[in-house]
Amino acid sequence: MIQFHNTLSGKLEEFKPLKDGEVTFYACGPTVYNYAHIGNFRTFVFEDLLRRFLEFKGLKVKHVMNVTDVDDKTIAGANREKKTLSVYTAYYTEAFQQDLQTLNMLSPVIQPYATQEIPAMQRLIQTLIEKGVAYEADGSVYYRVTAFPQYGKLSKKKLEGNIEGARVDVDEYDKEQGADFVLWKKAKEDEPSWDSPWGKGRPGWHIECSAMCMRHLGETIDIHAGGEDLVFPHHENEIAQSEAATGKPFVKYWLHAKHLLANGEKMSKSKGNFFTLRDLLAKGYDPMAIRYALLAVHYRHSLNFTFDGLKEAREVIEKLDNCYFQCLSISNISVESAGVGLTQKLSLALDKMTEALGRDLNIAEAVAVLLEEITLINAAIAKKTLDAEDVKSVLSFIQETDRLLGFDIASVHFIPENVKTALEQYSEARKTRDFVKSDLMRHKIVQLGWLVKDGRPGESSTVKKARRAWDIKK
Ligand SMILES: [Zn+2]
Repeated sequence: MIQFHNTLSGKLEEFKPLKDGEVTFYACGPTVYNYAHIGNFRTFVFEDLLRRFLEFKGLKVKHVMNVTDVDDKTIAGANREKKTLSVYTAYYTEAFQQDLQTLNMLSPVIQPYATQEIPAMQRLIQTLIEKGVAYEADGSVYYRVTAFPQYGKLSKKKLEGNIEGARVDVDEYDKEQGADFVLWKKAKEDEPSWDSPWGKGRPGWHIECSAMCMRHLGETIDIHAGGEDLVFPHHENEIAQSEAATGKPFVKYWLHAKHLLANGEKMSKSKGNFFTLRDLLAKGYDPMAIRYALLAVHYRHSLNFTFDGLKEAREVIEKLDNCYFQCLSISNISVESAGVGLTQKLSLALDKMTEALGRDLNIAEAVAVLLEEITLINAAIAKKTLDAEDVKSVLSFIQETDRLLGFDIASVHFIPENVKTALEQYSEARKTRDFVKSDLMRHKIVQLGWLVKDGRPGESSTVKKARRAWDIKK
């Protein structure tokens, strides 16, 4: 059985997808006005774990993550830098895609861009006007919150005290009571705009997600996820828009990740505790250590990010790396020990890990099982008690945990033929002191995305796959 905590009911619920064997999953994507920070990535890593777990259980996940490339923030950013909106957002979109790869996230199955989906947004607004829940005022269109009696059901906000006709024009607001929010914003002089039945303008942020979600996944979907700061108003408004238009439930399970604190405080540039992923990479941290630090705390607990925590995460990844590398080394030589019969034990451990994740993604328990096994394996390696069958089981166990948790351990050590050949030529050139050739071969290996580690005199050189894009460019 799989259970998730549903924000809508406030309870743990058994997860049953609408269609057997398939899951429709919408995740609110980045607003591409800046580099994403580690608080953003905490949510994206949680969503990646959710998808990996469901796929591991044999479900086919249709994962849609949008790109918000037009909203208040992107327009303000483009104006500040005196760039067109598309040039400005293309830069940060590209950076975000690189960051996803750096953290070994699975690519969304579909990644719609808001600016390319304007007609679907306009159709949805038109439907809402026809149904009497939206109205035009001064060239903009607003959603009449009082026309949707269930408004507030996700965020548990009460509508009493709502001022009839009070309107809000900005994408992000935090009001105790609901207010009529904007669906279509009348064009301003310094803003990009599109033609519409209500004159030139642009969509509000909330209608973008409703329209993209329903266009790509259908009127009712299984899972909608995001950070907890999106519950109100963004997701509340998405429900109001979608359900008023279709008369059907919009989302079966709402999952929200808690916020991230840095050194016990809210991240802020003025406090000096604000970090993008790139800030941490520039300090030399391994991307998988960062992934581990963001992932290993349950998604509904707030995560306190510290450099001590990141150092511990690095030790865990090194432990996994070493375990895999050592088993790979032993697998190339013949061993004569009796073995410790690991195959069944590791298969059981993997079952325990998935069972823990089935309980609302209990990652702490899953990781504890993994690390316990790795400690035992490392002890057995030191005592030289593993036989060939054990070694094979360890390699496949780590490959499976890579697939489930996304730590990317195995691929770092799997050396493709072209790299092996280049490494042989490199070593040969070093032996004959042909430094022009050895430099050339080293460069070739680095270009292929691998790092060269030279052994001590007399020892051979080894390679390790680079986990960071700029390791390759050196
Ligand atoms: Zn959204």
